[in-house]
Amino acid sequence: MAHSDENLFRVTLLGTGAPPPRLDRFGPSTLVEVGKEKFIFDAGRGAMQRLHQLGIPFGAITGMFLTHHHSDHVVGFPDLWLTGWIGRPWGKRSEPLRVWGPVGTKQMMEHLPLAFAVDIRVRSKSYPLEGVKLIAQEISERVVFDQDGIRVSAFEVDHGGEELPAFGYRIDYLGHAAVLSGDTTFNENLIEHASGTDLLVHEVTATGGRAAESLEQLKRIGGNHTTPDQAGEIFARVRPKLAVYNHLLLFGDAKPEDLLPATRKKYDGPLVVGEDLLQVEIGADVLSRPFRRSIGQ
Ligand SMILES: [Zn+2]
Repeated sequence: MAHSDENLFRVTLLGTGAPPPRLDRFGPSTLVEVGKEKFIFDAGRGAMQRLHQLGIPFGAITGMFLTHHHSDHVVGFPDLWLTGWIGRPWGKRSEPLRVWGPVGTKQMMEHLPLAFAVDIRVRSKSYPLEGVKLIAQEISERVVFDQDGIRVSAFEVDHGGEELPAFGYRIDYLGHAAVLSGDTTFNENLIEHASGTDLLVHEVTATGGRAAESLEQLKRIGGNHTTPDQAGEIFARVRPKLAVYNHLLLFGDAKPEDLLPATRKKYDGPLVVGEDLLQVEIGADVLSRPFRRSIGQ
């Protein structure tokens, strides 16, 4: 990459899927490399494998942020945390891991070490105990990280009302910004917090033909997620330099390419349907491309 570390602002979709156990779309997880920091937002299934494909050891990750506690966003966490502690090239974590997330994050980070107590006891004879420590911080709508010009702000979204606390994140650096929607239905608060962003990564749901799910189930899903028509309105109002679909929740015979015509009813700006390992470089231009493995990885 042409960037010096200092100017680096790159977003990589580690997983663009949802609960269905697909091989081409792993669970939701996004890597944000910004300045000296390497943050992971959500830890869906397969995040460890995708990180390894990038050639980045988990030991290099400087913080994790959770948007909410639906299992498809966190089931990959124990894998990253424990596999990433092992002293091999893809792991080598030797420092405590900071984890930000909604209420419930402290409880999860206190109980995970109990669930894996045997592994931790045995492996701590080989690897530094500091590398498996978790430092949890519960968030509200505010700036949650502010260091070396890098600012991460959490904002509330609506993923089924108060029953399920859910947040999106905005990352600001060097006059540029990336916004990750988390899971949400159409949300005015997101539009407000995404104002002026370069990149808007947004979740989406669509149904096509006859879905196997019951109507009632689809209605519930529609109340918690965003349709492409709604996303088109969001993108049209935010006007990001690039909009990217992520966390594709497709039902029936809906296909990723079906998302575009519905979105285009209201939005004619730059738009990409995300795929695993799509990378977006944020700078004077905002450019996306699939990750190409270099020789040897
Ligand atoms: Zn969710």
